[in-house]
Amino acid sequence: MAGVEEDVVAWRRHLHRHPEVSFEEHETSAFVAQTLAELGVEVSRPTETSVLGRLRGDGDGPVVALRADIDALPIQEESGVDFASERPGAMHACGHDGHTAMLLGAAKTLAADGVPRGEVRFIFQHGEELAPGGARDMIAAGVMEGVDFVYGCHLWTPLEYGKVAAVPGDWMAAADFFEITITGRGGHAGLPHTAVDTVACAAELVGSLQHIVARRIDPLQPAVVTIGSIHAGDAPNVIPGEARLTGTARSFDPDVRSLIPKLIEEIGHGVSAAHGASFELRFVYGYKPVVNDPVATELVRSVVRDELVEPDPIMGGDDFSAYLAEAPGCYAFVGAGGPFPHHHPRFVIDERALAIGTRLHVDVANKVLG
Ligand SMILES: [Zn+2]
Ligand SMILES: [Zn+2]
Repeated sequence: MAGVEEDVVAWRRHLHRHPEVSFEEHETSAFVAQTLAELGVEVSRPTETSVLGRLRGDGDGPVVALRADIDALPIQEESGVDFASERPGAMHACGHDGHTAMLLGAAKTLAADGVPRGEVRFIFQHGEELAPGGARDMIAAGVMEGVDFVYGCHLWTPLEYGKVAAVPGDWMAAADFFEITITGRGGHAGLPHTAVDTVACAAELVGSLQHIVARRIDPLQPAVVTIGSIHAGDAPNVIPGEARLTGTARSFDPDVRSLIPKLIEEIGHGVSAAHGASFELRFVYGYKPVVNDPVATELVRSVVRDELVEPDPIMGGDDFSAYLAEAPGCYAFVGAGGPFPHHHPRFVIDERALAIGTRLHVDVANKVLG
């Protein structure tokens, strides 16, 4: 696999230089489609910016789907690597360039070795980073029809290089998104009593919303409510008439998941009313939790060598959960130990992890095909 490992690094660096954000992966998907075709893999395009590769064996047998997400993030890269993004405002800051390259490497290896029976499907999915996500488009286009086993992996820098996590049961949280609009009355900053101050209201609301997790949800149930953006006003001497906040909620338990928007409504209306402002919530259910099938996970664990570790579940989300609703499977994490978290402008991975991720795709596919 030595030649393949070099290809994977080269492909990853090419993709890193040319990132495309969610649902705009035109060059990326064209590159994947062309590379797969050159490898002798049957190629189709389930959606405009995604790719499906297929290797079919001669005899009947199981169908195993391997999935990589291919999109980048709207972040200006500051990593300083010499293959940094050449596209202003876009960056592979989550490692999806590595996911794409590893799955291409697996396709190259499996195409060279040949698939004895059954089928291996290579799902190169667009739009993982932006709800409602690309997975549901892929499934609607039929990529999971007849699939017996689905596997994917995420490079993960909090996990050190050389470690692999394949955890049965709850693994990644449900990821939901919301937008809040507080409407008051604009006015002169020196005459606050003649206005309804949306900045003061928003500030108090951000603090009050933290009481959802701290005071309103069972402390033994994991939950997160994060306000990720807050926009109001343009000048120091003007009270803005409107404030807009966006955020995300994370949970595992379905009751907790449905309780969070109700509590945001309740607290939002209460705090806003106390300021004489009005409150509006738009809440969008995003990705279901990633819950790994125990039997499928045991199969994945059987091909992991001495790298296996047992971390706690994480509150990040992934639309890999949509595939898990269609077939038993497992979403693994491959340690890529770097100093910065995912989605950081200086995000880097330990590229040695690419070889482990590539090998796991191949070994899982071969194990399922038996
Ligand atoms: Zn991400
Ligand atoms: Zn990611």
